[in-house]
Amino acid sequence: MSTTTLSEAVETKATNTPVKIAVANGDGIGPEIMGATLKILNAAGANIETEFIDLGEKVYLSGNTSGIAPDAWEAIRKNKIIFKAPITTPQGKGYKSLNVTLRKSLGLFANIRPVEALVPYVPSHFPDLDVVIIRENEEDLYAGIEHRQTQDVYQCLKLITRPGCERIVRYAFEYARAYGRKKVTCMVKDNIMKITDGLFHKVFDEIAVEYPDIQNETQIIDIGSARLAAKPENYDVIVTANLYGDIISDIAAEIGGSVGMCGSANIGNNVAMFEAIHGSAPDIAGQDIANPSGLLNAAVSMLAHIGQSAIGDKVKNAWLRTLEQGYHTADIYKEGISVQKVGTQAFADQVIANL
Ligand code: NAD
Repeated sequence: MSTTTLSEAVETKATNTPVKIAVANGDGIGPEIMGATLKILNAAGANIETEFIDLGEKVYLSGNTSGIAPDAWEAIRKNKIIFKAPITTPQGKGYKSLNVTLRKSLGLFANIRPVEALVPYVPSHFPDLDVVIIRENEEDLYAGIEHRQTQDVYQCLKLITRPGCERIVRYAFEYARAYGRKKVTCMVKDNIMKITDGLFHKVFDEIAVEYPDIQNETQIIDIGSARLAAKPENYDVIVTANLYGDIISDIAAEIGGSVGMCGSANIGNNVAMFEAIHGSAPDIAGQDIANPSGLLNAAVSMLAHIGQSAIGDKVKNAWLRTLEQGYHTADIYKEGISVQKVGTQAFADQVIANL
């Protein structure tokens, strides 16, 4: 089985031809944070050509229950890179999550979620938080095998495969090696789910011996999450199953400052998708108050992936400078630390001024 490692992807050479990218504006705060982010990328000189695609709520409401039109699939498959703002999926009813469909259909097996506290510029009680969560992205309870058995009994199957475990665990160790990280922690619940999570743990132990230069440990997910929330400095890279990874990355992002700060890369063998870790935040949509940082950080990862890391570094430094200057969106604004509360577009303008 061939696997694209992040280091291989990072080595992709830049050319003068713009890299074509499928871009989805998303729902809720999506269009606002996407507009702000693209404005920054444009000002920074990112050598990209955007092809906008429709997906999410608008497509569902037009009667297409998959949430994505055939021409959008075509654009993604052709461009192989998708830059996506969050989309809305109804809770407990309605259509299947398009995010899950995209990750599964495109074989995006690894979800990389770096979280770093930026104390003293961004308020957080955990100045030493600097962790990368590597979440398996296609299996587990997200495999979409859910049905009604009888009138009162419903079932959701947890699917864990050996190839899936091997791929994500190896990816985590390769990532640690490529980025000079010292330790990989596996989080599972194999005291209860002895066969499925047991397999994940077993594969982790088998692969860990191939990486003697990287420390390894396994923790039960419940106490592991509690320890992560109390002493995040004890974690470096965490590898875990789909659902656990989704939950602990939101916890880590929130204790690091805000769920609005973190981006993620969804990596597959042929296609990669970059997005914020958070959702479409309908509660603050249309008010120009959302933090565009999560999507911007996803864009920085995307630039590295397409061989434009120098531009990515420029964007990241301008973003850090903006936070350091105290220009903060409402989610991270704190009296005494922040200098000025800014909206989405004003934040982006300040990043541009710092480029
Ligand atoms: P959410 O992440 O959208 O919002 C949770 C809380 O965080 C809200 O109070 C919101 O205002 C705040 N928040 C989120 N992003 C922010 C930002 N950039 N700046 C400032 N504050 C921010 O989670 P939710 O409310 O549970 O979900 C809303 C919708 O998003 C749901 O339909 C869900 O299915 C969807 N969702 C989509 C994705 C995705 O597209 N990848 C991921 C998660 C959730």
